[in-house]
Amino acid sequence: MSKVILQPSGNKDAREHYENTIQSPVPIQVLSEYLSKGTINQLKAFYPDELVPTWGVTPGKNNVNVQKWGKIQTGDVTVFSANGRIFASGVVVLKLQHKGLAARLWDYDKSGQTWEYVYFLDEIKQHAIPYIEFNRAVGYADNYIIQGFNVLREELSERILSSFDLRSEIYLPDISEEEYEQELLQFEDHDNLDTNRLGKGRKEQSFLRKQLFKNKKVGVCGICGNQYPVDLLVAAHIKKRSKCSRDEKLDFRNIVMPMCKLGCDDLFEKGYITVCNGKIQRNSKKEYTPHLFEKVVQIETSECLYWNENTRKYFEWHQQQ
Ligand SMILES: [Zn+2]
Repeated sequence: MSKVILQPSGNKDAREHYENTIQSPVPIQVLSEYLSKGTINQLKAFYPDELVPTWGVTPGKNNVNVQKWGKIQTGDVTVFSANGRIFASGVVVLKLQHKGLAARLWDYDKSGQTWEYVYFLDEIKQHAIPYIEFNRAVGYADNYIIQGFNVLREELSERILSSFDLRSEIYLPDISEEEYEQELLQFEDHDNLDTNRLGKGRKEQSFLRKQLFKNKKVGVCGICGNQYPVDLLVAAHIKKRSKCSRDEKLDFRNIVMPMCKLGCDDLFEKGYITVCNGKIQRNSKKEYTPHLFEKVVQIETSECLYWNENTRKYFEWHQQQ
């Protein structure tokens, strides 16, 4: 799951780096002098404006930072701190080691090292979270001061991401099919609990979202066919999740589809619309207000791109409710 990266940035070097390569992101043109074409194309997909907030850490004394950096994954959240507070955060998109690039961007430190363990960020947000608030959320002593680059373990990270609402809806951690399956087994008997509040089921949601959206910023609603930013789309179960057998939940390629929060998700879940033979239909058993009718008429009879031989049985289940 997503982890939190502590990045104290109070010293002169770090302050300059923050200004020079986060606040003023690095043009892809500069990066393309050092990185492969494949990597540059990947970056271009994530940064349409071709400006990339970039950070890096040195190997550190006895390579102390190398192993920590090794744990960083897409979707992890970096928090920058200085002067007694967390002042910014950003979500990890990609990481790579490159001495030449680091030397170009940040030169060398006094011990002759450069910040070659590079990672690229997106969704940079400003904050003003005092250490005391942060410490209490994590469970540290009130007077704890963040020192040194560190990657926190998942449980601590979870608390921070939830407390300060730092989680990305675009960049999701890699979760294997095996992990997804394990998660399903583990929480099978707890479907009635408020799974989100407990932080359980998050892995499952992340996995399903990643299947559908693949770290893209924009997606298409499977009902109305409109394009929306992915934070306005949900990975919705065609057959109600709580009614799915284990095998159906494992059929993740067919059991979920993107639906927009601008109405389609609710209209479908509450049965105001159904999908019959691939077409969106009004549900004659339901009562419609004139406004709702107007809304549904707009999408009625349009084709649902997610209807096929594999998903048919789930739509049929939904129709019979
Ligand atoms: Zn929609």
